[in-house]
Amino acid sequence: MSKHVLSALADAIWPPVCPVRGVPVDVSGRLDASVWQGLEFLDAPWCECCGLPFPYPSGLGAEVGILCATCIARPPKFDRARAPLAYGDASRALVLGFKNGGRREMIGQFARWMARAGEDCLEGADYILPVPLHWRRLLARRYNQSALLGEALSRQTGIPMQASWLLRARATPSQAGKSVLSRRRNMAGAFRIAPGHRLDGCHVVLVDDVFTTGATASACARQLRRAGAALVNVVTLCRVVRASDPTM
Ligand SMILES: [Zn+2]
Repeated sequence: MSKHVLSALADAIWPPVCPVRGVPVDVSGRLDASVWQGLEFLDAPWCECCGLPFPYPSGLGAEVGILCATCIARPPKFDRARAPLAYGDASRALVLGFKNGGRREMIGQFARWMARAGEDCLEGADYILPVPLHWRRLLARRYNQSALLGEALSRQTGIPMQASWLLRARATPSQAGKSVLSRRRNMAGAFRIAPGHRLDGCHVVLVDDVFTTGATASACARQLRRAGAALVNVVTLCRVVRASDPTM
C-alpha cells in the first residue's frame, strides 16, 4: 500500500487534530488558525552573534555584523545562535506539547523553520550535536527533545548528527526563574565530551528546543572548543526575546 493511501487511511481512523488546541484540522501536523496567528516568527535585523532581533532597523545602512548590548558586554562562547520563533504563549504550548506530551507530528515543519532561520549557522557544518539530557531525566522522559529536533534537522539538511559525543556530566537544577548569572553558574561544568572524541577544526551546530539566556549553549560550546571545534553555532526552535517572557 502506498504511503499516501496509508496516511489517508490513518486520517480517516484518527482524524488529525491541532497539536496545541486539540481541535480538528485538515491535515496532520497543521495548526489551528488561532495558534498559527499567535506565533511570532523572527527575522533580521538581529544581533549577528546571538540572533536577538532588534526592534527597529539600525539605520546604519548595513544590518550585518551588529551586536546586541549583552553580546558586547559579555561575548558568548558560541559563534552564532539563530531561532525561527519567539518564545511566547503559542510557541510555549507548541514546545510543551512536543516536550512533555510527545506530540511529534510537527517535527518536520520545525526542522524546515530551523533550517531557514539557521541557514548561515548550518552552511558548511560538519556535525549536528543535540544538547544532551542527564540520563536520569532521559529515563523519566524516554526521549531527548533536542535529539529529536537534531535528527529532523539532520534529515532536512543532510548534515550528520552525533548524539553521543556531547554528554551531560551532572544533573542540573531547573533553570526556571533563575537570573542570568545563576544560570551560568548552574551550567558550569555540566557538560563533557565523550572519551576518545576530538573535534579538531570542526564546524559543529548545537541543537536545542529553547534559547533562553545562552548559558546552556555557552557551557556546551566551552567543552566543544576544548575538544578542538573551530566553529560552534546554535540553532533552536524558539528564543526568548523579552525579559518578561515565560521561561521553562
Ligand atoms: Zn547578541
